[in-house]
Amino acid sequence: MREYNRQPQKRNKVRCKKQKEFLLFLFLVVFIMAGIFVGNHVSLQEKENRKTDKAEDKTADEQESEENTWQDLQKQEGLEVHFVDVGQGDATLIICGEHAMLIDAGDNNKGTAVQYYLQKQGVTKLDYLIGTHPDADHIGGLDVIITKFDCNRIIMPEVQRDMATYRDVIDAMEYKQYRNTRPMVGTQYFLGDAVFTVVAPVGNYGEEYNNYSVGILLTYGENKFLFTGDAERMAEYDMLQTGIDLSADVLKVGHHGSSDSTSKSFLEAVSPKYAVISCGADNDYGHPHRRTMDILEESGIAVYRTDELGDIVFYSDGQNIMVN
Ligand SMILES: [Zn+2]
Repeated sequence: MREYNRQPQKRNKVRCKKQKEFLLFLFLVVFIMAGIFVGNHVSLQEKENRKTDKAEDKTADEQESEENTWQDLQKQEGLEVHFVDVGQGDATLIICGEHAMLIDAGDNNKGTAVQYYLQKQGVTKLDYLIGTHPDADHIGGLDVIITKFDCNRIIMPEVQRDMATYRDVIDAMEYKQYRNTRPMVGTQYFLGDAVFTVVAPVGNYGEEYNNYSVGILLTYGENKFLFTGDAERMAEYDMLQTGIDLSADVLKVGHHGSSDSTSKSFLEAVSPKYAVISCGADNDYGHPHRRTMDILEESGIAVYRTDELGDIVFYSDGQNIMVN
């Protein structure tokens, strides 16, 4: 029996060796894939470089592998925050599992671009649509979004404006038979496994429309994102007075980086690791202002700008934050 078995044992050894080689090969593939993954998400400098020579330098394979990596991330339960590049204006898409919300939709001529961006991300309906305040660079594209997507809840401040852009939004809402939900400070809403709290507007601001901006604090696991529209110092002060803990990992910098916003005390309370500024290249307002950039830099906060980087996407697994 022993003699008889010797040959198969030898074969087994060969098979075993082949299995080991295959495992080693698998390990190498996983290792290389991990390298590609880390390389794709770590460095802002790399992102900047990528933007510059995106079209010409990337092979189709590289692009595909990058998309696959991002798709792999999307398959996991997680939170995505897309700061969509709409030039001078705001549009932020938040996706959590099957749930999506949009904060603002850029200027009048950006509605369709935002619509396409949402559709590209697989968004077919919105759990929430927030129009932070009735200025064209925020609510301009909302009528297109309301027309094209079913929206479960629309949240806009209770301040009206006598301008066509605003009326277009109201007309689109009436056409779809939607009613506005008034933002009440302290109210919480669920977006899948994420939750957001309304933190503004706190008071009455006459015709200071920026200060009516709907502010929300989005929480996913241990990660927090703060969005304040175009709220200026007075509104920031009022937010601080609510006693709500405004600390966040990511701050969407108020009013496109204007010096009218981001007071020192407000920034200290939020104490973000990352700041995002949504503005257009060479915009008429000089946004972001030097003072804002200085205070962010002095505080050691990593700044991401749509005018420099295009669309900016943050991903959170509830504990860690990555930037694409
Ligand atoms: Zn604005």
